[in-house]
Amino acid sequence: MALLEFRPVGIYCPPADVYIDPTRKVSRAVITHGHSDHARRGMDAYLCTDLAEPTLRHRLGPKVRTQSLTYGQTIDLNGVKLSFHPAGHILGSAQVRLEYRGEVAVITGDYKLDDDGLSTPFEPLACQHFVTETTFALPLYHWPPQTEVYAAINDWWRRNQEMGKVSILMGYSLGKSQRILKHLVADIGPIFCHPSIEAVNEIVRQQGFELPPSRPLEPQLQREDFHGAMIIAPPGALRGEWLDRIEPFTTGACSGWSLTRQPKFAPKADRHFVLSDHADWAGLNRAVQLTGAEHIYVTHGFTEVFHRWLEGRGHQVSSVA
Ligand SMILES: [Zn+2]
Ligand SMILES: [Zn+2]
Repeated sequence: MALLEFRPVGIYCPPADVYIDPTRKVSRAVITHGHSDHARRGMDAYLCTDLAEPTLRHRLGPKVRTQSLTYGQTIDLNGVKLSFHPAGHILGSAQVRLEYRGEVAVITGDYKLDDDGLSTPFEPLACQHFVTETTFALPLYHWPPQTEVYAAINDWWRRNQEMGKVSILMGYSLGKSQRILKHLVADIGPIFCHPSIEAVNEIVRQQGFELPPSRPLEPQLQREDFHGAMIIAPPGALRGEWLDRIEPFTTGACSGWSLTRQPKFAPKADRHFVLSDHADWAGLNRAVQLTGAEHIYVTHGFTEVFHRWLEGRGHQVSSVA
């Protein structure tokens, strides 16, 4: 395929001379979303969606050179038509569509098919070449309906409150935390967020998205401020003195890894909620089917399993780093 080359630095499009989510310094980086394993420092110029741009600048610093496109907007790079399309992973996350001389390639970045109420829902795109992540590409990964998970989280919070305990939910600062916050029932009690999360909440609110009221965790807060509270914090962020002030508390984790409790990925917690921003096994299969792609490229995660599975179903498959 002339359109894509899989290089150690990242996925490269030779005619357009751009890299997608490069791991080392390049001149022009196309960024699917703001997570640190996709948007790295040091690129000369970044291209992303308008919805991802504010958090990207927040994470990489105000001096970075960014250019943004709305979903579906096309730019021409030496004859390659490049556009971003919703990936449904986090707010502003995108699949990259590249079209050149009648060939179409789509690179998903991270994605999920469920509409989380905050990210623009995943848009299936017809293409010949489909590069898909495979984070949860095992048949045992099957997500429960998210409404059930949100209800379970709110019930857990209520019950903890009745027992006089503070609830601490762990989620990544960008994406997962806002999704959790979005679905909390604010009437239950006060909501506090770790400063790294509250900074992103503020950006999201400034972009016009509604989130329940939350307050940053600040040093002047006292034990009584946390009465009946929910605290959202990144895994491992609350330590020592903070935890003394919050006692008694109980912890919850929100992750796809919660399903299998892989100690490597799922943080230690008293309660586990299965809530993922990635597609589960059925979602990955549906996405592949919807593209109608002849050639599937698998990356990030259980690549071997998905590779063999897709090959068995008659697809042309390549595993890429
Ligand atoms: Zn991600
Ligand atoms: Zn990722």
